[in-house]
Amino acid sequence: MSADERHFETEAIRTQVPASAEREHSVPLYLTSSFVFDDAEQARALFADEVAGNIYSRYSNPNTDELVRKLCRLEGAEDGIATASGMAAVYVALASLLQAGDHVLAGRALFGSTHQILTRLFPRIGISHSYADAAIPEAWESLFRANTRLVFIETPSNPGLDLIDIEWLAALCRARGVPLLVDNCFATPYLQRPIALGADLVIHSATKYLDGQGRTLGGAILGRKALIEEARFFARHTGPALSPFNAWILSKSIETLAVRMDRHCANALALAEHFSGHPALKEVRYPFLPAHPQQALARRQMRQGGGIVVLVVKGGLERARRFLDAVELLSHSPNLGDTRSIVTHPSSTTHSKLTEAERLQVGIPPGLIRISVGLEHVDDVIRDVEQALERSR
Ligand SMILES: *Cc1c(COP(=O)(O)O)cnc(C)c1O
Repeated sequence: MSADERHFETEAIRTQVPASAEREHSVPLYLTSSFVFDDAEQARALFADEVAGNIYSRYSNPNTDELVRKLCRLEGAEDGIATASGMAAVYVALASLLQAGDHVLAGRALFGSTHQILTRLFPRIGISHSYADAAIPEAWESLFRANTRLVFIETPSNPGLDLIDIEWLAALCRARGVPLLVDNCFATPYLQRPIALGADLVIHSATKYLDGQGRTLGGAILGRKALIEEARFFARHTGPALSPFNAWILSKSIETLAVRMDRHCANALALAEHFSGHPALKEVRYPFLPAHPQQALARRQMRQGGGIVVLVVKGGLERARRFLDAVELLSHSPNLGDTRSIVTHPSSTTHSKLTEAERLQVGIPPGLIRISVGLEHVDDVIRDVEQALERSR
């Protein structure tokens, strides 16, 4: 059976560093900052890129390489690099491809820190941006400029759960010779494979579902070799490397990604269905609910609807705050993609740096609660949300 014939689950488990002379079954941790040269000639050749091999763990390490190789197999990518966090991946991907005078076209609904890079940091070095709305595809075409160098999107978006048609946008980008970058953090390669739909680079915060147990930060950039070369050069000389220890954790976590995502999605769908039409709620958002305006696109582009459910409580900010203080089982935390179910109030935390008007534009009203549905028994999660809604009246 060649690697090309293997299924997702098999690749996630069997892509690993070959066993050492010790014949270990589970890959060991290579906690070493550097590697030893055989001789002067090998040292020269390694630095001249004439031969492949490890030199220094800021450039490569068996544990980070295993993680990258695994993610490349799962995303269908030619090449990739790992980074210390998801934001390091977002920043390296953007900064390695852009220079002063360039313009970025981005989906409006972005992770809070990605928004800060585009609106606060890049203007300092002469890089401009425009935002386009997921709900108005016709508008994207007119927002391209002569100096647009790349397009960056998140789908489904955090926390609004807006979708963008990757195949459609990739065709638009290809016609203009501009690469499309997709933050695939919410879906993971198990639910959505942007490269197969025409995207050029996929960005991950491995901190979320790839780790899956809320233990470590990590990130990755995966995709077309020529673009990854730029990112690798940038990362090698600026240093946002993933530690071997975190790479070791993440690679082992991904062994269970498929079974975890199946359960996250089943629990999230059950919770979304249970609370649909609940009298305390203005809205329940979930990509695979018939009420989601992009349900058809979600079903075409994603294998399942993901692990995030959004509730908008009647009573706005005050009720949302009472709800957060009333949950007992669920954790109140900014993370997501954990085995433990988590409630987050984006407008006062992860997206608090946006103005009120910007939040409303990306679909974050003050009463919006994001639930990252975990792997506890879903009836217990539902019961806790139910009692918290009741007590927040
Ligand atoms: C969390 C997150 C990031 C940032 O990842 P970190 O690992 O926290 O740096 C980027 N994009 C999305 C969609 C996220 O949810």
